[in-house]
Amino acid sequence: MMTYGFTESYYTQARKAGVIFIQYDLAEKPRVTPTDGSVEVIVFEPILRQKVRIYADLVVLATGIVPRLPKDLAESFGATLDRDGFFEEAESKWRPVDSLKEGIFACGLAHSPRNITESIATAEAAAQRALRILSHERMPAGKVLAEVRHSLCSLCERCIEACPYGARMVDPELEKVLVNAAMCQGCGSCATVCPNSASTLAGFLDQQMFDVIDSAFEGTA
Ligand code: SF4
Ligand code: SF4
Repeated sequence: MMTYGFTESYYTQARKAGVIFIQYDLAEKPRVTPTDGSVEVIVFEPILRQKVRIYADLVVLATGIVPRLPKDLAESFGATLDRDGFFEEAESKWRPVDSLKEGIFACGLAHSPRNITESIATAEAAAQRALRILSHERMPAGKVLAEVRHSLCSLCERCIEACPYGARMVDPELEKVLVNAAMCQGCGSCATVCPNSASTLAGFLDQQMFDVIDSAFEGTA
């Protein structure tokens, strides 16, 4: 049994103070029955491998946190939810409050089960990330950007489906696939799915990549 991060020290303190933790299986939940002036708890103790009966003065239940983020709302902002139904972060270590879509941030319980200290920390982080955008009159584009070679593009739209950042769209008037430079993260997904080599990353031509791969494998055969 472990708690995450530094909260492990609370667990250690509780153990030292004599608190006994009993882990239970969902298939064998504890049974709680009110009795005269007390509460009887019967629970299977996995180390003793037998049921134990506890007469408790008080039973305090800690309820789980269930996400209730409206999927439609998240999707209308281009944010995605993870498999548990919480806000999906772009990268857990380096961009923990960012959505995959540039300019969308989440904090507190929208992000994941959080205590108050963590909720405040994520709120401050999200505000700081938003300020990074709001403090500029113009958004600087990323260093690596996708491009479209329109003469090769068949408008199949595979790159639009593949782009995790929603940075590509068809301009119906121009009849061209366009890249939103402020939203493109240079991930290269569009280039990998394009059947016509029409989608490229500036500065990363196919031949350059083949040369890099060749030199990496040189002498390994
Ligand atoms: S490189 Fe392509 S797939 Fe990746 S964010 Fe930019 S446009 Fe989207
Ligand atoms: S995948 Fe390639 S060919 Fe298809 S729309 Fe995108 S750039 Fe054009």
